[in-house]
Amino acid sequence: MTTDSVTVSKATPTHQAKQAYVYIRQSSMGQVLRHGESTDLQYRLVERAVSLGWPRDRIQVIDDDLGKSGASSEQRLGFQFLIAEVGLGRAGLVISLDASRLARNNSDWYHLLDLCSMFGALIADSEKLYDPRLYHDRLILGLTGMMSEAELHQIRTRLHAGGRHKAERGELRIFLPAGLARQADGTITLNPDQEVQARLRLIFDKFAELGSARAVRKYLSENHLLVPTHHNSGPAHNRIEWSVPSGSNIRYILHNPAYAGAYVYGRRATDPARRKPGQPGSGIILLPIDKWAVCIRDHHPGYISWETYLANRARLQANRNRFNKGGQGVPREGKALLQGIVICGRCGRHMSTGYTGQQGEYPYYRCDGDAQIFGGPSCQQVRAPQLDVEVERLVLAALEPDRIVLALDALDQLELEMKALNRQWELKLERARYEALRAQRQYDAVDPDNRLVARTLEHQWEQALRAIEQLEREYATWKLENQSEITPQNRQEILAIGEDLPKVWNAQTTTNADRKYLLRLIVKQVIVDQKREQGKVWFQINWQTGACTQHIFTRTCISYQQHGEATRIEQRVRELHANGVNDRLIAETLNAEGLRTTYGQPFKYHNIYDLRSTWGIPSAKEEGLEPNRLRWADGSYTISGVVDAVGVTKGTVHSWLEKGIIKGTHTGPYMLWKIALTDEEILSLRKRARSHTHPPREKKIGR
Ligand SMILES: [Zn+2]
Repeated sequence: MTTDSVTVSKATPTHQAKQAYVYIRQSSMGQVLRHGESTDLQYRLVERAVSLGWPRDRIQVIDDDLGKSGASSEQRLGFQFLIAEVGLGRAGLVISLDASRLARNNSDWYHLLDLCSMFGALIADSEKLYDPRLYHDRLILGLTGMMSEAELHQIRTRLHAGGRHKAERGELRIFLPAGLARQADGTITLNPDQEVQARLRLIFDKFAELGSARAVRKYLSENHLLVPTHHNSGPAHNRIEWSVPSGSNIRYILHNPAYAGAYVYGRRATDPARRKPGQPGSGIILLPIDKWAVCIRDHHPGYISWETYLANRARLQANRNRFNKGGQGVPREGKALLQGIVICGRCGRHMSTGYTGQQGEYPYYRCDGDAQIFGGPSCQQVRAPQLDVEVERLVLAALEPDRIVLALDALDQLELEMKALNRQWELKLERARYEALRAQRQYDAVDPDNRLVARTLEHQWEQALRAIEQLEREYATWKLENQSEITPQNRQEILAIGEDLPKVWNAQTTTNADRKYLLRLIVKQVIVDQKREQGKVWFQINWQTGACTQHIFTRTCISYQQHGEATRIEQRVRELHANGVNDRLIAETLNAEGLRTTYGQPFKYHNIYDLRSTWGIPSAKEEGLEPNRLRWADGSYTISGVVDAVGVTKGTVHSWLEKGIIKGTHTGPYMLWKIALTDEEILSLRKRARSHTHPPREKKIGR
């Protein structure tokens, strides 16, 4: 007790008037359980505080950090509380079994030392009492901190090196995902449970087919299939659990190299910059394959080949990438057919897909390149429907020679899928039957007089039987709903449909995602530029075969300013209108000449009316309200003019023109005739009309 008699002098009444804090910590729960005596020893520090002159009611034990590692103060609420108390000047003494328990990290440790010296708190361990204000004590405490951190570092290095050496030999027991099992001798085999195996195979097959973890999840959910999982800790350790399919558990399976038969160590690392306070598991990143510490291929049997694993990884990566990172993205359900494969022909960036309209019914492709980076105007925005139709037409035309092959493939695919699903059902049923059998055995084994137990077991047995019934019913319904579709009779139908690819393409059952998927098998990219030529959309299809074709079409637009044929339309409307042609006929004429409105529709008379008012062409009076033009400015006659002057029908005038009795010119269909007639000619025509068998018409047309 000599040390205490020396040190007691350090503890003055000023110190003793403040609180004494006894800090207790064991770094892991295992230590807490196994080294109970050490914990007891730590609690005995209270006695030590008493012996140093603190009354019991002024001694506070901080044991919030039991079972927490001392590597950093984060998560250690007790330590944080201690720091706060010292900082508030409430602490006279901080006591711990040995100083290193206070902090295993230099910065935490010096922080505490600084605060203690500033606010005059003493630090004690089981042997000594230190005053951080005294040079010697401070030196010793500082060294203790450094030693402590160095020690921790050494322990870590040794543990890590040990683990790594074992891992390099493939002997370190890595955590195995569901579907793999470790035998007594340490070798890894497939989990003998057939249902687990089949489900995992289904997940891999479906990913190969659908191409996205999300689609696989959707597929499993729709078919009420669960995902086998393992927990690496807790009471259910290493037991298969069936979880609801989620994006994360499916991605976990796809990302796990153990399924490809590889033994991998050091696949993850912690990135301190990405850690989030209060989330211990945060900041973990998956390392690229070449950074893995250990990777032994063909270490154990797997579900997929290493090549498939690499392909899956690449596929997941491509799905995850945003357009501007160069990935295609996943085909989605939206209407925009070229989503993910359309490239801006002006700046070469991937174009994003958007929807306008109240229900988002108008899809478009947009290049935001400059707008996103420099805040400038968006590069271009191309409306999707017209472009999609053009591409679709070209693709369907390109596909014709191969259509039968494709149809057969589609059929095989369907059949395979149904078989796979059927197998899943059979396994489910088998499991249920096994459960029932086990319940029955348990019931049989119990002494019938033990009513309490027997009743419970009987109940369990009944439940298991009911589960079978339920499952059988569901299976039957599923068969009705799904399997009937590909009975031999329907085979011919499907073949027939398949032969006609446009029909398959347009079938109601073909979803937008299916179409996009099909399209991507054929088309790599579509490059679009709608500013190359006014009112037109230029595009290039880069086919998967490596061929490129260029195309152009007149686009629909909102205003005639953007219309590719705007000048021609205006010229024709002015010309026809000047010839006295009414709007209805102008519309028909333009349509006949192959011109279309901004929306790509045939012209109607009101379109012409609107256009004339836009272009300031004065409105003509409607037919019937004003007499038709009779004479031209140069004195020549129109048909109506001849009718009026001679007193014959329009038909007669036309027949005279045909026969060459009178001569006239006109610039085109619907154009007014110009017929030059002298007064003498009019008179002779009148005579000719009177001599005609038909009586002259009484009623004059017009006026
Ligand atoms: Zn662009």
